Amino acid sequence: MRKVKQFFESKGIKASGAIMAYLGAPGDGIRSFCWTNPEQRERFRKIVASTAGIFDEIIFDDLFMFNCRCELCQRARGNKSWTEYRLEVMKEVGENLVVKNAKSVNPKIQPDLQTAELVRPVSVFRLQPGGPVQGLRHDLCRHRNQGPG
Ligand SMILES: [Zn+2]
Repeated sequence: MRKVKQFFESKGIKASGAIMAYLGAPGDGIRSFCWTNPEQRERFRKIVASTAGIFDEIIFDDLFMFNCRCELCQRARGNKSWTEYRLEVMKEVGENLVVKNAKSVNPKIQPDLQTAELVRPVSVFRLQPGGPVQGLRHDLCRHRNQGPG
């Protein structure tokens, strides 16, 4: 991966890492990581850390989601709604497994969430270090209205 990055940079092209954070098997449809499961969280943490060790920017595909309803998730959710539980967990995942984790490896890192449908990559939001997700931008709607180009 470092050689690929070096190749592009030798041609004057900035290279960024990209992560599509979902699991699945053929015929299985789209299945997110189980963000409640310690083993899957650790797998994701290692992916982010290794990517941050190579690149100064990590682009997260918008499949960075949470749709698991396994027994572990059901127990952890307790009396909360799925929406409440998932928002709480994904906020924590963004802060700890993405921002703090990536910054601990590469202080210059910029984690961005991108929407796959856009022709040009555009930040939907930038995950800020040491705090909750901030800086929701309105580029997405503006960009959709402009169309490609
Ligand atoms: Zn689960």
